[in-house]
Order: sequence, then structure tokens, then C-alpha cells
Amino acid sequence: MLAKAIRLSTTGGPEVLEYTDVEVGEPGAGEARVRHHAIGLNYIDTYFRSGLYPLSLPSGLGQEGAGVVEAVGEDVTHVAPGDRVAYAGGPAGAYSEVRVMPANMLVRLPDAISFETGAAMMLQGLTVQYLFTSTYKLQPGQTILFHAAAGGVGLIACQWARALGVNLIGTVGSEEKAALARAHGAAHVINYNTEDVVQRVLEITGGAKVPVVYDSVGKDTFARSLDCLQPRGLMVSFGNASGAVPPFALTELASRGSLYITRPTLFAYASTRPALEAMAAELFGMVESGKVKVEVKQRFALADAAEAHRALEGRRTTGSTVLLP
Ligand code: NDP
Repeated sequence: MLAKAIRLSTTGGPEVLEYTDVEVGEPGAGEARVRHHAIGLNYIDTYFRSGLYPLSLPSGLGQEGAGVVEAVGEDVTHVAPGDRVAYAGGPAGAYSEVRVMPANMLVRLPDAISFETGAAMMLQGLTVQYLFTSTYKLQPGQTILFHAAAGGVGLIACQWARALGVNLIGTVGSEEKAALARAHGAAHVINYNTEDVVQRVLEITGGAKVPVVYDSVGKDTFARSLDCLQPRGLMVSFGNASGAVPPFALTELASRGSLYITRPTLFAYASTRPALEAMAAELFGMVESGKVKVEVKQRFALADAAEAHRALEGRRTTGSTVLLP
């Protein structure tokens, strides 16, 4: 069958995204065909589009969606036609009306969770789950620094931290975003365009600094993030919204007091079916309990994916964004 999808044959700016017809076949062994009701927009999509992360061309784009299983191939037992499902990761291609994909990526979506919420929360919510429970196991009463707190990952992190009893210091780029992060549970907010982040962290923590920094902004914030850490603190560099972090000397960690650093990816944490299921169950629990509300703040038609990329890279979005086929 023919279906609409976004394809790219070269990397570059948002203009390389083409809305076109693609042929979608029958699922083979271990595969499922999913009809999307909503597609998640993520910053990682811009890295693949721009060429920062490698992509074999021509290609589809997108890592996350929610919809209904239409057909399954041989050896697929955990989902069946008619199931409501969501996923994050796998081969690029979520920017499509319908696709064939590995069935082991699919998780059944609870009835109480809408397709839009499912598409918006899988990649960003599973990320917060592993960052807060595995990369560094947060304890109630701790104070942490979390960059880009009003973004998709950020608003989920603010609420998750509040639920854990953790004081999250969030950084943001405008006063509107500061208000939003505060309303979602950030204990303190720093506008990194107008305030000195290190100075403010010292003030807020009474000079103690923080045991962990979560930094997805990358190039622009990296060095200052290291300055916010206590001796033997952990730097979690998990994204590059401002550009990739340039190479640095290991002595930078020694001179600040034996710091640790990690560069995690969701896909290394959700790499097995049991791990994915356990992580998803915890995320669904947070959402169903109302402790975390996934904020879909922007909706674009799938055909307007390039506009959505411009908004995301132009820092004009807050919370999560979905594309609607
Ligand atoms: P966001 O909604 O958070 O959008 C990115 C935000 O980064 C912007 O809104 C902006 O907020 C801030 N930012 C700071 N500097 C820049 C810049 N120069 N250009 C653009 N934005 C900038 O995106 P997501 O929630 O999708 O992802 C957040 C980050 O987390 C990304 O870096 C992403 O790659 C990373 N990530 C990593 C994962 C992993 O497992 N490693 C998984 C999921 C996401 P402001 O205006 O307030 O500065």
C-alpha cells in the first residue's frame, strides 16, 4: 500500500525533509505494521537530519510514535492486530502514516493514556526514568541541576523530581519558560541568558554545589556545568542542543575534585525487552498516577515536519511536540 511519509535524501536544514508517498509492505518475521495516530518530535531527529549523527541515505526520520497494530509477522506474540501501542527507538521512520518495524520495540499503551500522550512521552519520559533511577539514583532531599528545564524532557524531569522529593534547579532561556518550569515543580529556576549559573547554584546550595548535573545543551553549558559539581560529583552529558561538546582534557575532572562523567543514551538502557518493559511500566505508573503530566504544547501536521524542526531548533517550543498524520 502507499502511505505518506517524510523522507530525506541528503542531510542539511529542515528544507531537506520531503513529504512524499512511500510503499509499505507486509510485516516479515519479528515485525509489525503500525498505523500512527501521533508521532513524537524529538531533538535527536534534528541531529540525524543535520548529519551530526550518521544516517544511511535515503532514509525516513523519527524515533517515536503511538498508534494501532494493523498486522504482525511470524514469531510475534506480545502484540496483536488491534492493539494500541507506543514505542521509542528503532530504525528511523516514525514520521509516517503507517510503517513496518521491529515488533520488539512496541509496548502496549494503557487505555487511560491517549495516543498523543503516548507519542509525546515515550522517548522523553523513558529518558527521565533512566537518568533519575539508573544513571544516578536520586534520593529525596537532594538538590540537582537540570538544563533546558522547560523543554520536552525538561518538564517531565521537573515533575518527576518533585515526585521524588528532589530539589531541581532548572535552567531556561526566557522568563516565560522559567514560569513554566516552576509551575511543573522546579524548586529553583535560573535564566541562563541573564544570570550566572555557577553563581546562582552556589547561592541556592549555600556554597555546597550539586552532586549531579544533567546537561543536554552541550557545547554552550558544558564547562560551567562542571563548575557546579561537588567533589566526586557526576556530570551527565546527555544531549547537544547547542552543538556537540568539544574534546576536553581529563585533568578538567581532576582539578574540580575527582569528578565523574557519563555520556548516556536511552537505547543502551532500554536495550533488552525486560528492561524496556520495566522502564515503561514505571513511566506509565507516573503518568497514570498524575504525578507526571505530559504537556503536548505544540501540534503540527506530519506534512509540516520542517516547520516543527524550525520551531524546536529556534527554541520556540516548550514541553513536548507531536506530528499528526
Ligand atoms: P527540548 O524540548 O528540550 O528542546 C531543546 C531545548 O534546549 C530548547 O528549547 C532550548 O531551551 C534549549 N537550548 C539551549 N541551547 C540551545 C540552542 N543553541 N539551540 C536550541 N536549543 C537550545 O528537546 P527534547 O526534550 O527533545 O530533548 C532535550 C535534550 O535531551 C536534547 O539535547 C536531546 O538530544 C536530549 N535527549 C537525550 C537522550 C539520551 O538518552 N541521551 C534522550 C532524549 C533526549 P531554552 O530556550 O530554555 O534554552
